[in-house]
Amino acid sequence: MTANSTTDERLADAATGEQTDEPLLRVESLTTEFDTENGTLTAVDDVSFTVDPGETVCIVGESGSGKTVATESITRIINQPPGRITGEVWFKGENIAACSERTLREVRGGEIAHVFQNPQEAMNHCFTVGWQIVEAIRIHEDVPEAAARERAIELLDRVGIDNASARFDDYPHEFSGGQKQRVMIAMALATSPDLLIADEPTTALDVTVQSQILDLLAELQGEFGMAILFVTHDLGVVAQLADEVIVMYAGKVMERGSVYDIFERPSHPYTQALLGCLPEYGGAGGGIPGILPDPTAPPPGCRFADRCEFVVPDCREGDHPSELPATAADHTVACIHYGPEGDAGPIRDATPGSDRGHR
Ligand code: SF4
Repeated sequence: MTANSTTDERLADAATGEQTDEPLLRVESLTTEFDTENGTLTAVDDVSFTVDPGETVCIVGESGSGKTVATESITRIINQPPGRITGEVWFKGENIAACSERTLREVRGGEIAHVFQNPQEAMNHCFTVGWQIVEAIRIHEDVPEAAARERAIELLDRVGIDNASARFDDYPHEFSGGQKQRVMIAMALATSPDLLIADEPTTALDVTVQSQILDLLAELQGEFGMAILFVTHDLGVVAQLADEVIVMYAGKVMERGSVYDIFERPSHPYTQALLGCLPEYGGAGGGIPGILPDPTAPPPGCRFADRCEFVVPDCREGDHPSELPATAADHTVACIHYGPEGDAGPIRDATPGSDRGHR
């Protein structure tokens, strides 16, 4: 099967049991809209990507880029209405975008687990953390309570909660922010997911604890063999964790490639601008000048045009530039200056720290 196989071909393969080289997760043309007083807000616009088993894919972009809505649309955490989600989400060979809510509930929190930015909101403060992990296990697996309790204590211990058997009976408010996030990770691992979706899980934590949690996730990934889809605005986190990177802006994918491509051969002006803000790339640590376009009235053409130093009149016309090869077939960029042969025109020499050998 090729990356361009049609839905019917994949369904036929699934029906005949043919072995495929399908990734663990294939998101195709995912679009998420919301009806608002100001009109239709398109938070995610025709986004496609894949995640292979055991791989870490980071989605990076500023606030409002659509990265969180994209991941929450995968398991339809977003309520419809007010949301409206279209596109295909193939997980282990099944289009879960077409599944019933009941089936999706089994997948969500089972084979696909989520860890959110704010564990405070994700936990139930009326129950002990141990009870909540036991519940997470027993919702998806028919195991006796004693066995689930034993597993919960093992998980608490594994994520670094000292004296886990005693802390099993503590309530969320008795844990620090970093410990709560460790508990959330334990809860997510309770069902041995194939895919962990982690949405800015370290943003609310101080730098030292953030680093510990990232190290823990990397260790657990090896141990549990799961893939991670990690949402962040922090390029430092991307550098530490990612195999593959998807750069989003205003609901669109701007660039995708390996972590090497993104940091050593950044090709889209937006990626270059993000990197250019970092002190290690000569930036002052601030943000990119300008603001994102209004998501209820995105401009025609490239959505980055108002903030792009390479903008030309054609950028503001027609559809958003489609993705083209940047430096390799699997390193793509959505920018009008790139041609089918990866000719980057004026952008080539503008890579932050260009003495680092772009292209
Ligand atoms: S298409 Fe034009 S505006 Fe958009 S990133 Fe490329 S050069 Fe900049």
